[in-house]
Amino acid sequence: MNKLKLKLIRDDFKMETAAPPARKQLIADWQTLNRIFIRPEDEDAKRALVKHMEQILFGLHDFLQKHVGITEEASLKELAERFKDTFIQPHPEKRLSEVISDLVNEVAPHAVNVASPYFVGHMTSAIPYFMVHLKTITAALNQNVNKAETSKVLSIIEKQVLAKIHRLIYQQDDAFYEAHVQNPNTALGCFTEGGTIANMTALWVARNSLLAPVGQFLGCEQEGMVAGYQAHGIERCVLLVSRLGHFSLRKAAGLLGIGNRNVISIDVDARNRIKLSALKRCIRDFEATDGRTRIMALVGIAGATETGSIDPLPELAEICAEHGIYYHVDAAWGGPTRMSEKYRHLLNGIERADSVTIDGHKQFYMPMGCGMVYFKNPLILERIAYHARYIARPGSVDLGIKSLSGSREANSLVLASALQIMGARGYSLLLEHGIETAKAFAAEIRKRPLFELVTKPQLNILTYRVCPPETKAQLQDAPTILRRRLNAYLNDMNRGIQVLQREGGISFVSRTTLYENNRLEDPLVVLRAVIMNPMTNIDILKEILDEQEEIYQHHFA
Ligand SMILES: *Cc1c(COP(=O)(O)O)cnc(C)c1O
Repeated sequence: MNKLKLKLIRDDFKMETAAPPARKQLIADWQTLNRIFIRPEDEDAKRALVKHMEQILFGLHDFLQKHVGITEEASLKELAERFKDTFIQPHPEKRLSEVISDLVNEVAPHAVNVASPYFVGHMTSAIPYFMVHLKTITAALNQNVNKAETSKVLSIIEKQVLAKIHRLIYQQDDAFYEAHVQNPNTALGCFTEGGTIANMTALWVARNSLLAPVGQFLGCEQEGMVAGYQAHGIERCVLLVSRLGHFSLRKAAGLLGIGNRNVISIDVDARNRIKLSALKRCIRDFEATDGRTRIMALVGIAGATETGSIDPLPELAEICAEHGIYYHVDAAWGGPTRMSEKYRHLLNGIERADSVTIDGHKQFYMPMGCGMVYFKNPLILERIAYHARYIARPGSVDLGIKSLSGSREANSLVLASALQIMGARGYSLLLEHGIETAKAFAAEIRKRPLFELVTKPQLNILTYRVCPPETKAQLQDAPTILRRRLNAYLNDMNRGIQVLQREGGISFVSRTTLYENNRLEDPLVVLRAVIMNPMTNIDILKEILDEQEEIYQHHFA
């Protein structure tokens, strides 16, 4: 697809804007404000708005679904030049209709077309069209589930959908869900803005569980970390996770006052899963510190961000049970795989976790801004509960009592509706398509002499690199110094290919750095593909490889 054709498709979509009539100056006065606050100014304005919204709610989506490249050519630097005005104008600059057509015609083309089936680099992708409508309804209702006084039935709906996903993970019996689904005194989990806040919430609970009240000590939430360490006779808390742990865990450790250096990276095995021997050794070493260092939590990953690999969850559960360690599973990416009958076994063991993170805006295909965290014990969120005088009174269904966030939207409405529209089977089709397409992609990469598959997909993520056959041959049994030199050359080349392809603007894979045999002195720059768009098929992936081969021939051969 060339740039000209791309431009033509874009022009197709351009909104006609009524030629501005000989325009009078726009004034902000009370009368006008009253008019536009409640509804469109007049019937004409309303008709124009309805037309615009129709185009946005259907057209923008169709437009993005088409194969139109990833983004326009303007660089971030050029764009930054266009947005340097730091004054708020005293009077209105534009009417709503003008603003909307500007957004569609001038801003959207410079956003990233994450819905393109050629965009296979990140965990952000096309979403079903109806998600936008559901999100619009949520915005129009403008409920705040922080407190039932501003959300009523939406809080009840949130509790129901939390129970559904809890059941997907933990598989408790009917009596359990009967007792908790609408119980104002217990919580099965909570919605957050994303996986980061979800992980943070889980580790907040873990920290308060470890530095719990004893004797006169009221707990670290009330008395702080210094008092907490003193009361428990310890000097240091650590968090254990494989080298592939998401960086949100380090943020959480910083914020929770345990220090992000105390997130201990455990080596991974050849399949990028936490290495159990290394983990056990690490636990033994910490236990030998006479209890002066305590393990706050062990985090298992169900779908590592970089490689999609899944830690051995049952073994981790066993280790946590044996050593009395809090067990969190970061399933921000992989969690929804539980819905697939075919692949749910990959997450076996997750039901033994004390807490589980799942992102809504990843494999539940929701619009940006939705994460969730679930807890096995419906009472454990008491450890982070807060009350205020004007809301969040004990025993109310104010969801803000047990939540890191304050005011927040009724995102559960989007998920609850999507589950009704899709069913577990509908979601499974998406998940299975991703996993199976990734498998086919891996086979294709193996077939081509110019490429090397670096991590084969366990879920729908894989990594590979460009590695010409002669380099491959040289790498065989190469002594360390030569191997490092060859890898350094390949690293530069793969970095270059990824950037050139991105700048070409037609397709996109991302890149990351993995470490050969866990050795920091042996970095491997790899290309990373995340297959979640149902429109991405093996033919498109072959085209992406073709383009990479062309870039290689042109610039590096
Ligand atoms: C994406 C991701 C996160 C962070 O989630 P955000 O929604 O980006 O805050 C955490 N852990 C894993 C494994 C992830 O893939």
